[in-house]
Amino acid sequence: MKAEELAIEIDQGTIEKASTRIRFHRSTLGIGANFDVRYTAQLTCNRCLGHFSRDFSTELYLTYVKGKDPYENVEKVDLKKTDIDRIYYTGPCIDVLVGLREAVLLSLPITIVCKEECRGLCPVCGKDRNKETCTCPAEHVGVFTPVVIKHRSRKRGKKKT
Ligand SMILES: [Zn+2]
Ligand SMILES: [Zn+2]
Repeated sequence: MKAEELAIEIDQGTIEKASTRIRFHRSTLGIGANFDVRYTAQLTCNRCLGHFSRDFSTELYLTYVKGKDPYENVEKVDLKKTDIDRIYYTGPCIDVLVGLREAVLLSLPITIVCKEECRGLCPVCGKDRNKETCTCPAEHVGVFTPVVIKHRSRKRGKKKT
């Protein structure tokens, strides 16, 4: 299945390619579907704004329930865990893309970093601190800014023995 067919839009970047294996079975509520999804996403690092692609694999279990979505016209609802796992359909067939999209969106991390130790951009001069070192004051100390320990120069000379 090509990503264009999926038309999955994500805020964090773009889906390059995706493939899925779906296992269906009947359940008391409707049709149970087990999605086994693998995809590659082109993402932007939250810290250094660099682009990179990463492979993901995820599983999601959904139940397709025939009937109208009871929450369709309700603005604010307290969704229970089971409600999120249900997809309502009215036509003669189910839309597997809905499930696929859900699986992709749920598996994407909220904070995206190119690598765990990414040092990000300098908040002062904007340089990519993974590539260059700048001499900006370290007052904007972030979690990943190395701490500079100043050594006090010794003023006293060595004691004579
Ligand atoms: Zn980065
Ligand atoms: Zn700087």
